[in-house]
Amino acid sequence: MITFEGFDDRTFYLTFQTEEDCLQYLSSMKWAENYKCRKCGHGKFMKGKKSHSRRCQKCKYDESATAHTLFHQLKFSLMIAFEMVFRLSCDKKGISTLGLSEKLSLSYQSCLNFRRKVQYAMRSSQRYPLKNYLEVDEFAVGGYDSESQGRAKGDKKLVNVALEITPDGGFGRAYAVKIEDYSSTELEKIFKQHIDPENTQIRTDKWTGYIPLTKKYNIEQEYSENGQNFRQLHLHIMNIKNWIRGTHHHVSKEYIERYLDEFHFRFNRRTYRKSIFKKIIERLVFSTKVTQSQLRVWAT
Ligand SMILES: [Zn+2]
Repeated sequence: MITFEGFDDRTFYLTFQTEEDCLQYLSSMKWAENYKCRKCGHGKFMKGKKSHSRRCQKCKYDESATAHTLFHQLKFSLMIAFEMVFRLSCDKKGISTLGLSEKLSLSYQSCLNFRRKVQYAMRSSQRYPLKNYLEVDEFAVGGYDSESQGRAKGDKKLVNVALEITPDGGFGRAYAVKIEDYSSTELEKIFKQHIDPENTQIRTDKWTGYIPLTKKYNIEQEYSENGQNFRQLHLHIMNIKNWIRGTHHHVSKEYIERYLDEFHFRFNRRTYRKSIFKKIIERLVFSTKVTQSQLRVWAT
């Protein structure tokens, strides 16, 4: 059985040297719990036609290691797919799609299509909302914000971000969502999706859009003083903006939330990077509830 816990190139290339290694890794993950035939529910199997596939002893249904996973019917090798997951999850600063395309000698479009699947796997489960002490603020990327004058208005992307501040003043976990405007309804999205309303103290700036939310959430408003009163949060916002501009140059309004998810998936796991690769592969293997057509809609 192949295991991989790491984030360094050498261990990765030593672990996954052949297509067979990748298939074995997927197969042992997919059937880690007892085998059960997808068609008839029978619990015994024999070796299937393809390498690491399993064939039901009763109804003879033959299931490959990649069937019903997001690795099914890829137009390139599993080794390339694994390397893409590795680059996207373990490179500290992530990588642009163009960078992936050059590194893997694969077309830009193929890289982008698969990146969408990985981003899908990187979405927050929303099961572990932020809590204790948080700061929330909204910001714009592109468009008419002060750092990129003169771009088309339609290109302006608005984002709301929430960051946990640890008792010693450090960074905890964070999430960000795309918003359409700075109204209370839009600002509440991040509260609904990512913030535990109980036992959580939230700080925002004095923006009036937060006032209606003070009835439902424990919010304290304070003057921002150009970010001086929200030092950690503003540093975090700067890092998000730098990543979008520096690594990707441009991310459209339609897709920005996927990149925010990707950024925060890595950010929230920065202290235990060893398990990131496995986590993503697991999600790609068990995303069976997502149909191919749903994924296409999500991915276009
Ligand atoms: Zn069967």
